[in-house]
Amino acid sequence: MAIKTPLEYINSLKDGRVVYYGGELVKDITKHPFLRINVDWLAMDYVLENDPKYKKLILDKNEDGETVPFILSAQRSKQDLLRLRDLVKLMARVCYGKPSGAKFVGKDGLNAVTVVSQRVDKKYGTSYVKNVEAYRKYLQTNDLSLALAMTDVKGDRGLRPSKQQPHQDYYVHIVKETKDGIIVRGAKTHISQSPACNEMIVVPCRAMKEDDKDYAVSFGVPCNAKGITFISTECEAREPGNYFDYPISGSSFINDALVVFDDVFIPNERIFLKKEWELAGDIAYMFGNFHRLSAETYKAAELEMVTGAAILMAEYNGIDKASHVQEKLSWLIQYAETVEVLGRAACEHCVTEPDSNLVYPNPMIANICKLHFADNWHQATKYVQDIAGGIVVTAPSFKDWSNPKERPLMEKYFGGKAGVPTEDRLKMVKLIKDETSPYEDVLTIHAEGSLAAQKMSILGLADFERYKSAAKRAARIKDIKDPIYRELPEFPSKTYKY
Ligand SMILES: Cc1cc2nc3c(=O)[nH]c(=O)nc-3n(C[C@H](O)[C@H](O)[C@H](O)COP(=O)(O)OP(=O)(O)OC[C@H]3O[C@@H](n4cnc5c(N)ncnc54)[C@H](O)[C@@H]3O)c2cc1C
Repeated sequence: MAIKTPLEYINSLKDGRVVYYGGELVKDITKHPFLRINVDWLAMDYVLENDPKYKKLILDKNEDGETVPFILSAQRSKQDLLRLRDLVKLMARVCYGKPSGAKFVGKDGLNAVTVVSQRVDKKYGTSYVKNVEAYRKYLQTNDLSLALAMTDVKGDRGLRPSKQQPHQDYYVHIVKETKDGIIVRGAKTHISQSPACNEMIVVPCRAMKEDDKDYAVSFGVPCNAKGITFISTECEAREPGNYFDYPISGSSFINDALVVFDDVFIPNERIFLKKEWELAGDIAYMFGNFHRLSAETYKAAELEMVTGAAILMAEYNGIDKASHVQEKLSWLIQYAETVEVLGRAACEHCVTEPDSNLVYPNPMIANICKLHFADNWHQATKYVQDIAGGIVVTAPSFKDWSNPKERPLMEKYFGGKAGVPTEDRLKMVKLIKDETSPYEDVLTIHAEGSLAAQKMSILGLADFERYKSAAKRAARIKDIKDPIYRELPEFPSKTYKY
């Protein structure tokens, strides 16, 4: 098999998968008016892969000399990470600030199990490395789309998986073992792109204790496997094909579905973790390390667009020289550029994972970048909405704009600065409405891990001794432990008589 064409990918989804949308079972997702938006968006991966202009960036050769997508290769150097960043940035720019999704999250799950399977095999004498390598090759050579299912539905967040009530299925777990494999039950939630992917890689979302060992499970599974049901989220765009009112959500429906595993059989060769509970948390942590690059790169592209919308709206409204607007624009530019610079710096200062020789972005810088982005998003949307005005929520729809009776009235009364076409002003207003929706707000806070997750990582990675030694030295307290501060010279008056 070679690189798929967009049509081959689309046709591959007609495989009997069980997908619900809006209360109805959908027979063919490629024909459904809303699910098609999701499919079309994922197919952009394949459009780019087949475009000779991007071949050098997007395609790679595997060890057998076959042409495969670079995004499914393991990154082994800083240059690989920077190339991946360029690739994700290109995809996000093409997809209006959203990543193209066919392998975007899944590849990070694949890298996580690549690293952790080495540790598990070393500790328990298992042979998961072989399974992961074979799975990577299968995905590469068939150019398959891949979702990542990590987040369990979780029930009571204060209780561990095995202690949940009134049932034990809040986390995906093993219910039976046979000589050929395992049977799993439970549900994962918010699983982006999953109803339109070929495969799904399933990993634990947290550390486990011995009681939870049945929940320490990871595997790869086709999305049409018997027992898997997808319940789609509702598309933000209310009218397919209406890019005037829904310029972003009309083209990039992420479809973060609920995925139910109702006694799904997983063959032995597709298992990457089976009850080795001590290493379940490592997979979740490693996924975060790899996924930061993806998240931060598309956010940087998204912020270019958000900042551009604020600048244009200020110009269209004739307020671009007002001091309060300039202040907001300068804040937005520093926000966008900080995310870009931190994301890139995390790759420049990447970490090599000793168990597998894979590299991932520097976790301290990457977590700071993610936190900076998520923590400041609402401030950014506040500024953009403030500059744009109330019209963001009150502008009539494309149906009114298309009505020859209403159009002249809208042309005349929704005009802004002379020379700016009313249509452009309205289109920008709609872009801001779509891009600053509650969906975008919640995505920014929670997708790729909630705020507390980044704060915990930052605290866990911090060099506390360096900070404390700096303070102790300045306060002339002895017992400085950090070698940098311990060895700094004294002021001359301490050493010389003068
Ligand atoms: C748009 C979108 C796309 C996503 N895509 C994917 C995907 O493709 N694959 C995937 O696996 N996941 C995905 N996620 C899931 C994402 O990683 C989670 O939303 C995130 O980890 C938070 O989990 P949660 O939504 O269950 O919220 P919760 O865990 O319920 O968090 C809500 C609050 O509770 C706090 N909290 C939770 N547990 C505890 C505790 N034990 N003690 C103290 N405080 C606690 C959190 O810090 C937070 O403040 C996506 C999420 C979104 C919104």
